[in-house]
Amino acid sequence: MKRTLDCDVLVVGSGPGGATTAALLAEAGRDVILVEEGRHLPLESAESYSLEEMNQKYRNGGLNVGFGPTRLTYLEGRCVGGASEINAALYHVPLPDTLRQWSIRHQLDGMGPDELAPHFEAIEREMNVSPARDGVGPAAERLAAGAEALGWKVGEVRRFWRYTKGADGSWLGRRQSITETMVPRFLEAGGRLLAETWVQRIEHDGRRARAAVAFSTREGRRGEGTRIRFREVVLAAGAVQTPALLRRSGVRRMVGDTLRVHPMLRVAARFPEPVNDPSFGVPVHQVEQFKPHITLGCSHSSLPHLALWLAGDVDERARLLAEWEKLAIFYVAVTGDGRGRVRSLPGFDEPVVYQPTTGRDLALLGEGIYRLGELLFAAGAEGFYGPVEGAPATTDRRQLERLRTNLPQGRMNVSAIHLFCSCPMGGDPRTSAVDPWGRMHDLANVRIHDASILPDTPGVNPQGTIMAVARRNTLRWLEA
Ligand SMILES: Cc1cc2nc3c(=O)[nH]c(=O)nc-3n(C[C@H](O)[C@H](O)[C@H](O)COP(=O)(O)OP(=O)(O)OC[C@H]3O[C@@H](n4cnc5c(N)ncnc54)[C@H](O)[C@@H]3O)c2cc1C
Repeated sequence: MKRTLDCDVLVVGSGPGGATTAALLAEAGRDVILVEEGRHLPLESAESYSLEEMNQKYRNGGLNVGFGPTRLTYLEGRCVGGASEINAALYHVPLPDTLRQWSIRHQLDGMGPDELAPHFEAIEREMNVSPARDGVGPAAERLAAGAEALGWKVGEVRRFWRYTKGADGSWLGRRQSITETMVPRFLEAGGRLLAETWVQRIEHDGRRARAAVAFSTREGRRGEGTRIRFREVVLAAGAVQTPALLRRSGVRRMVGDTLRVHPMLRVAARFPEPVNDPSFGVPVHQVEQFKPHITLGCSHSSLPHLALWLAGDVDERARLLAEWEKLAIFYVAVTGDGRGRVRSLPGFDEPVVYQPTTGRDLALLGEGIYRLGELLFAAGAEGFYGPVEGAPATTDRRQLERLRTNLPQGRMNVSAIHLFCSCPMGGDPRTSAVDPWGRMHDLANVRIHDASILPDTPGVNPQGTIMAVARRNTLRWLEA
């Protein structure tokens, strides 16, 4: 090893879970090193949803494949701040019933809605969670109008977004990603940030861990490397990379066997009039009626994104894109049931992900597409393209009924941006990797503070929950 570093606590991964933990520990006076594989870049380093941003801040430029019966692509951030730098910044608290069920099923003390409320409130304050003050855009208006016409509950989702008033009295909004919030707090408290540094493995004796072996990504994850010695380590590399790192390090029990996702289908809907105004960014409305198991919403609909989601309709694509203002992307996301596997292969740095799709997943996706179609027709759409590759546009109810019960598993393009549960927390060491406060059952000084430890699918955008749980676990640890 070229060099050795020492610290009290090493935190691996600077996304919402890791950076929240690192900031709180550093503010409490701990000597903390925060290691991040990706680059430390400001929000402005690339336009949101651009190819440049994907190259800079997404793992593998956004091209990650989950093997299994359904074609699945999944996205992960790889930069200081993790996926908070590239996400839509939508903030949610899970439904109270969801948290109650987690507590009961997984024997989690202190995880009920009332006990977590102060943590969510703190995150809302610290991350400037706000409603949109600068308009919601025409696609979101269509979503809301369609839902209202059907008598469904629909609402605007608050975001990690700070607003200030401009000189002319108009609102100026700025996304509150982790590089805007927790990372500056961590650095101001004296924490050491090592960006572009990949932790290859954790050294341990089966009971306690003692050091991490890390390599510079500027040197292609090779070279002489750095050994970082610690008293305690927090793994927060995300729901795929945390189990991959543990498995590379020879830690396998209840690690990477239970990955869950929110499978998502997207369609491009066509309206008779313009509905697409990219200046509004990500639309903020979601249909609440079928939560937590089915969420309907609309996505950023820039020209490159439309082209991507119309990729199966090559012949039609040029004609459709000529009138792109009349097209907008809508999605259905469901609580996936399939337990996926994360495996690290000898000689490979990147893990392999296998993600099954269960009958329940297909049924929920079919029901979700059906409901989305009903909504789009009620909102005045002429029809929609996708989610079945090579299929004609869906323009009437008969076609919609067919999609409800006959989604062809092998011809759908399913994506996942919410991944969790790969190292679940719980009171029973036989069915969980970490205890109810994030400490590994098998390695006394190793904690996990990221999406991996959520015991089940939250059914809502997860960043707020990951941060609230990381805060809860860190404060309890500091009290001990
Ligand atoms: C496109 C997209 C849109 C999304 N939209 C929303 C939204 O609107 N609202 C919401 O709540 N959620 C959203 N999410 C999900 C949310 O961003 C993630 O759930 C959340 O960021 C996960 O936090 P985390 O701390 O678990 O890990 P991550 O954010 O994944 O961060 C982990 C970090 O660890 C680093 N790392 C990994 N391995 C190593 C290693 N071996 N050594 C060093 N560093 C390593 C990674 O580079 C990464 O930066 C979205 C996600 C994506 C991809």
